[in-house]
Amino acid sequence: ETYAKTAAGSSETRGPTIFDKIISKEIPSSIVYEDEKVLAFRDINPQAPVHVLVIPKLRNGLTQLGKAETRHAEILGHLLYVAKLVAEKEGITDGFRVVINNGPTACQSVYHLHLHVLGGRQMKWPPG
Ligand code: ADP
Repeated sequence: ETYAKTAAGSSETRGPTIFDKIISKEIPSSIVYEDEKVLAFRDINPQAPVHVLVIPKLRNGLTQLGKAETRHAEILGHLLYVAKLVAEKEGITDGFRVVINNGPTACQSVYHLHLHVLGGRQMKWPPG
């Protein structure tokens, strides 16, 4: 397996991504929430006044939602709960959106599972 592609914008890959370096603090990020299982930090290219990413700190990596197994059920639930905590912390509980882009057709660019938490503006439906 190749671990060559590590940056955002790469196609579907396995191995370390830029988010691993954010977890290890090798790359700085604006952290909104952190516990032993997850990290939430501001998206570098925000698509709304509030745009936070929530990621698992899993050792053996979960690249995307579509690869989840039964053993991931607990962390998946925790990620969603932390999305709600982030919304409270950011003051967007009147309306916020949680998004997971899964795979190339959904425009996933970083292959480390992440939830987008978006808010602070009027959302449209359907999304693009
Ligand atoms: P997309 O790039 O189409 O939004 P993803 O769902 O994979 O696809 O989202 C990856 C997100 O990671 C993007 O919103 C991007 O702006 C964000 N991102 C990439 N690098 C960084 C970084 N160093 N710090 C914070 N956010 C980042």
